Amino acid sequence: MARAVKMSPNEVWRYRWDIALVRSGDGNGLLQGELRMTVDTVEELSEIILRYSYNPGVVAVHFERRIEFDVSHVPDACHNCGESYSVSSASRRWHECECGGHLLLGCTACGFDQYYPRIGQECVRERSPHVRRHRVSQLPAVC
Ligand SMILES: [Zn+2]
Ligand SMILES: [Zn+2]
Repeated sequence: MARAVKMSPNEVWRYRWDIALVRSGDGNGLLQGELRMTVDTVEELSEIILRYSYNPGVVAVHFERRIEFDVSHVPDACHNCGESYSVSSASRRWHECECGGHLLLGCTACGFDQYYPRIGQECVRERSPHVRRHRVSQLPAVC
């Protein structure tokens, strides 16, 4: 049986921000050095930046974004014919996209191509002709 889970791009492409607060040490209990934390949402990121921007013991706030591709819901069977990918060994290709990209699973039994994540609204956005996104090959190793 094919699983009906249809993950949308924003459920599969996850952003995380690693934050480093650089502390000068103000003699009031704040230690010198870096304090590191990781958040999952822009709201949390901006809250931390706002909170520490006024803190006299913090001299800098650095952050870096990480992009993670969640492979925990990759379909294990063809959505069209139900053939298990573990039996038919589906072809796997990478489909470049505005959202980050899709894993394209081609069924060897019926030829049906299944996108993971599914094509969402953010995928059909018109692409600016001179903005070409370059992505290091991120085809995840899944079995
Ligand atoms: Zn199929
Ligand atoms: Zn997309």
